[in-house]
Amino acid sequence: MSNAVRAVRGMNDLLPADTPRWRHFEATLRAWLAAYGYRELRTPILEHTSLFKRAIGEVTDIVEKEMYTFTDELNGESLTLRPEGTASAVRAVIEHNLLFDGGKRLWYAGPMFRHERPQKGRYRQFHQFGVEALGFAGPDLDIEHLLMTARLWRQLGVAAHIRLEINSLGDGAARARHRTKLIGYLEANQALLDDDARRRLHSNPLRILDSKNPAMRELVEAAPRLLDELDDAALAHFESVQQGLRDAGIAYTVNPRLVRGLDYYNLTVFEWVTDRLGAQGTVCAGGRYDGLIEQLGGKPAPACGYAMGVERLLALLDEAGIAPPTETPDVYLVHVGEAAARFALHAAEVMRDAGLAVVLHGGGGSFKSQMKKADASGARHAAIIGDDEAANGELSIKPLRGGGEQCRLPLAAAVARIQAGPAPADR
Ligand code: ATP
Ligand code: MG
Repeated sequence: MSNAVRAVRGMNDLLPADTPRWRHFEATLRAWLAAYGYRELRTPILEHTSLFKRAIGEVTDIVEKEMYTFTDELNGESLTLRPEGTASAVRAVIEHNLLFDGGKRLWYAGPMFRHERPQKGRYRQFHQFGVEALGFAGPDLDIEHLLMTARLWRQLGVAAHIRLEINSLGDGAARARHRTKLIGYLEANQALLDDDARRRLHSNPLRILDSKNPAMRELVEAAPRLLDELDDAALAHFESVQQGLRDAGIAYTVNPRLVRGLDYYNLTVFEWVTDRLGAQGTVCAGGRYDGLIEQLGGKPAPACGYAMGVERLLALLDEAGIAPPTETPDVYLVHVGEAAARFALHAAEVMRDAGLAVVLHGGGGSFKSQMKKADASGARHAAIIGDDEAANGELSIKPLRGGGEQCRLPLAAAVARIQAGPAPADR
């Protein structure tokens, strides 16, 4: 193994033992998104680096130190593996003029890339499902996003383990007023700032409130609150969102320190958080980004959205003891001998014509060893072909789950028998 090639650090393989849970999760989400009228958007994994710099903000963790950026040696362009989905979605919406006839509800899913220190719940390639509602001023869409996520947690069976935190970042003027006060406060406490905070003091002080450094916690807790700077319109918007949550019976807390790690947000921001996954507890996060479409060169239009981390949600399902679905074949086809092997190939195709999932034994071996494989496959039935069966065009069908007698039948009858499941007497 010592000189075998390995996967890139922080980038995971999803093995056959993992993929049924992923596929079940994805199918659940696709159905849930359809129930809310959201339509899928697929964008490239690579974008021009400038897109993310302009959208996410130059002085954010993501842009400063987490992006996989490289120069395309063929033409000298700077390209970046997408670290999140909203910038790409907005780029595509502008490029294809998708808002020409009104607002759009969109979703996307796929891998995202951030050069972070790998740890549980934090990877360099991870996966998100993201939802964007573009061209709507809210607060109705803000509420829809909170209601739909709450429904998803119920559908997944994790509602009891996740709580909602919300905040409002107000408009640009409120953030400017708050910025002045925040800088004053942080300057007065220079000695308590860590390196990151000192560097950001004048470039992006709001980011300091998003600091994950426990040593900065007290300082951040006592900082001037952006909430106190909101104007009447922002307060009314925030109040409507909260009214919508109360109407729907969704519990929430207002967290005045919640600012999010990306610069494009205004008004509503939210995070769904769990205590079951240690420090990586945010499973879903988002908010309103009314300025982003214009900032990226589109006709001004309001928008809001959110993204969830698939790995963290799957870890939460695990943590909550929700078993992954099993995927097993209907039939494991055992065959010994040359004639049997030829008939088995034919029989397996006929069974698949009838809609059955069939694993045809490969690699030879005795009946006994093949039957062991049949058992281990989780198949409901073993279909057995020896010389005698092959000569007569028949199969021996042995139920492997839920009891029942072995029986020998012509191919068509064997297919019908398997389709019918165990005979009533066998159940
Ligand atoms: P965190 O505060 O944990 O770093 P973030 O604010 O950087 O998260 P967002 O950019 O809002 O995260 O992404 C939305 C969601 O994607 C997160 O809530 C999380 O569930 C997931 N996520 C973000 N970064 C990672 C990562 N490196 N590995 C796995 N999941 C991630
Ligand atoms: Mg992060």
